[in-house]
Amino acid sequence: MKILKFGGSSVGSPDRIKNVIEIVRSKSSEGIGGVVFSAYSGVTDNLIKAANLAVSRDKTYITLFEEIQKKHHEFAEQLVPDFKETGILKEGIDLRLSELKEILDGIYLIKELTPKTLDYVQSFGEQLSAYTICVAFNTAGISAEYLDARKVIKTDNNFNNAHLLETETYYFISQEFVRNPKLRIITGFIGSTHDGETTTLGRGGSDYSAAIFGAAINADEIEIWTDVDGVLTADPRKVNDSFIVEDLSYEEAMELSYFGAKVIYAPTIQPAMDKSIPVRIKNTFNPTHPGS
Ligand code: ASP
Ligand code: MG
Repeated sequence: MKILKFGGSSVGSPDRIKNVIEIVRSKSSEGIGGVVFSAYSGVTDNLIKAANLAVSRDKTYITLFEEIQKKHHEFAEQLVPDFKETGILKEGIDLRLSELKEILDGIYLIKELTPKTLDYVQSFGEQLSAYTICVAFNTAGISAEYLDARKVIKTDNNFNNAHLLETETYYFISQEFVRNPKLRIITGFIGSTHDGETTTLGRGGSDYSAAIFGAAINADEIEIWTDVDGVLTADPRKVNDSFIVEDLSYEEAMELSYFGAKVIYAPTIQPAMDKSIPVRIKNTFNPTHPGS
């Protein structure tokens, strides 16, 4: 079984999402257990911005909220064109959005934005994208089930950059997959504490979510689908003859990511390394390229 992950730019427009669905369809014979999604590109930044505007008593947080709302409605309409189905999908989206609006109003009223509240706010990006994309998979004829990772990824309460509670998380994830072997469409980036409070795994954390799921189910491979062909030897803006590295060790990948190669979120490597699961970096915009 494989775990796939698609980042924000891979789901940056309804057409891109349709393309992702076709990539997943083309790989169905490979045994895909779950697909992890980031928020649509720019959404996490806007959620953080809205929370910061609200806490500084700037009412334009409402404008930003409305922008976020509009984007999610537009994506839903284009991905699920059937009028009745769109209506049902939008109800699910609006339910989540009204919760978000209440939190933002609360931040505005009490003039306080704690790391805990910020994680709650940020979580809506992945909640909304994965939920919508899951409906889009089913609309496209690929039967899939939505999985809010907060149900299974358990962390400490180090909000904004929570640490994984590995043993119980792996247990919960494997139980979830034993319970029901259906394809899961999974929220990246988010987890929860023992008290059920929402946490996030650090910016860029959806890669890490994918590795956690992969390690928990002993996946054959973890595929991180992004917007570049793979890991480059150097920053192409600074070094002319930089090239894609086909194979690199876990240690090399870790070093590169800690030293700033943006292709993969550094903590991603550890769970894969612990279980000796290969991690493949692939380009959504150039899927035939073998990647790294
Ligand atoms: N949406 C989150 C972020 O922008 C997580 C991710 O994209 O991996 O940081
Ligand atoms: Mg990323």
